[in-house]
Amino acid sequence: MQNAASSALVVAGWHRMSYTYEDSNLISQELETHIRKIHAIVGNAVTHKRFIVFGAGSTQLLNAAVHALSPDNSSSPARVVASIPFYPLYEKQTVYFQSADFQFEGDISVWKNSSDTSMKLVEFVTAPNNPDGQMNKAVLKGPNTKPIHDHAYYWPHYTPITAPADGNLMIFTTSKLTGHAGSRFGWAVIKDQSVYQKMKRNIRVWTQHNEEPLGKLSNTISLSNRFTLQQIPPQYCTFSHKVRASSPAFAWVKCGREEDINCYEVLKAAKIIGRAGRIFQGEDEYVRLSLLRSQDDFDLLIHRLSKLVSEENGPK
Ligand code: PMP
Repeated sequence: MQNAASSALVVAGWHRMSYTYEDSNLISQELETHIRKIHAIVGNAVTHKRFIVFGAGSTQLLNAAVHALSPDNSSSPARVVASIPFYPLYEKQTVYFQSADFQFEGDISVWKNSSDTSMKLVEFVTAPNNPDGQMNKAVLKGPNTKPIHDHAYYWPHYTPITAPADGNLMIFTTSKLTGHAGSRFGWAVIKDQSVYQKMKRNIRVWTQHNEEPLGKLSNTISLSNRFTLQQIPPQYCTFSHKVRASSPAFAWVKCGREEDINCYEVLKAAKIIGRAGRIFQGEDEYVRLSLLRSQDDFDLLIHRLSKLVSEENGPK
């Protein structure tokens, strides 16, 4: 607080608009570079040929990791375990997000000497450990056991750094590196590409990155006998002190021909990619189009839609 001015950050107005970066990445290239750099300076983790996933604190990543390491649609869910004493959030969060794919089991000792190697186990390995500071190592060794290495405290202000950590799935956080816990800034360092893809998919579900103007579109559609748009009646707006039409972020388009069994496919064939009605538990005759796009994208949408409408009565 005494160094508020010299430690201040300037954040550009455009920064972090939209949910994703280039190639729909959830992390900027620059941030990734800095994460690799700090590990190289400290020497506490191998990041070469590893993937990095950013999360809202390591807490979010811990659960994304449990999901990613558990089987999909298996008849037997993965058991989630840890060595006692362990950080209570592992249990709280795993129970809270319980799914058909995993369940919290707790005490690892039951499984340590088990001859049943077919059981799928996910092990939280915390080094240094919260609460006792021990440099825990993975206890389970079987082919179906997957560790999550929580290295929240593997920084030189808590423990000697003896070697770069080299686990398949390692989790770090600024909460313990610099104390910025309220910023919710965590990252995972991942060896395996398929685990990386699953982790990213899980984080995306939380983020719901639906990065998505209606008059022009409605003019185009009004020329059509095939497509219709949702109708939203104008209302008096107490903010602008006038009766106003809505300007929704999405067009909810309906395909009206009998042969238009799947509206999403009809538009896709015209190179217009929407989100199928069924994603929203709606009917297949509906598609949602995003309108919050760059002007170029929107112009292209209008161009392709106009073409589709002009072809309604057969090609000219
Ligand atoms: N892992 C351990 C071992 C912790 O002690 C904590 C915080 N107490 C966390 C993860 C959570 O950190 P974050 O703020 O990044 O969610």
